[in-house]
Amino acid sequence: MKGKVHSIDTFSTLDGPGIRTVIFMQGCPLRCKYCHNPDTWALNSPNAREYEAEELMELILKNRPYYRASGGGVTFSGGEPLMQHQFIKEIFHRCRQEKVSTAYDSSLYIIPSIVSDLAPLTDLVLADIKHINSPKSHELTGAGNQFNLDNLQLLNDNGVRIWIRYVILPGWTDKYEDLRNMALFIRDLPMVERIDLLPYHSMGSHKWKLLGLNYELQYIKPPSPARMQELARVVFSISQLPVYII
Ligand code: SF4
Repeated sequence: MKGKVHSIDTFSTLDGPGIRTVIFMQGCPLRCKYCHNPDTWALNSPNAREYEAEELMELILKNRPYYRASGGGVTFSGGEPLMQHQFIKEIFHRCRQEKVSTAYDSSLYIIPSIVSDLAPLTDLVLADIKHINSPKSHELTGAGNQFNLDNLQLLNDNGVRIWIRYVILPGWTDKYEDLRNMALFIRDLPMVERIDLLPYHSMGSHKWKLLGLNYELQYIKPPSPARMQELARVVFSISQLPVYII
């Protein structure tokens, strides 16, 4: 089986616990206005590289001593990695045999049967919540949040560890009411271990220009560190979970 890969980071410390090999998969069904990687959107991009599962496993296993020493493993990201779930399932199955920890970073905008099919092979999900309000999610990403919230519940019910990721985009995702509602939703999911708040930045905007796309957020400034702290306190006060600004 082959997978279409956008790029690979063999030594990441930002995509789950420990040192990890991160495989950025090609293809995404969403169109987030702040996306850093619009070059991952097209599944059949000529710039993607096709990997056989065994070829990718060889690459993953090269760093096994680092995974063991640091509690790391492999993380699939994107794009939306679950668009190529059969390929990921094969790799995760091989990782189980080799005792390599498995994770994926996803918007969970995917039919729930795919998430439940992968759940027994998944150690951790870095789950992006785009917006807790479905119409606002639609405005921001092109899709409502029903799959996202249903799949979070499903992961929780299947006992899969979850880290939440949420981008603070001033004027779009930083309203107290929305953060409160998100924290209340998360509070009822005992498998959620932590919440990461990511300040919006526009570092991917040049890629939009290269692709001939209109970057609508060009006049939005990143939130200040003080504002991030303030919002982190709101989320912590309700969720009672560790909140990190990353
Ligand atoms: S889900 Fe990720 S890759 Fe897809 S459009 Fe949104 S930010 Fe970009």
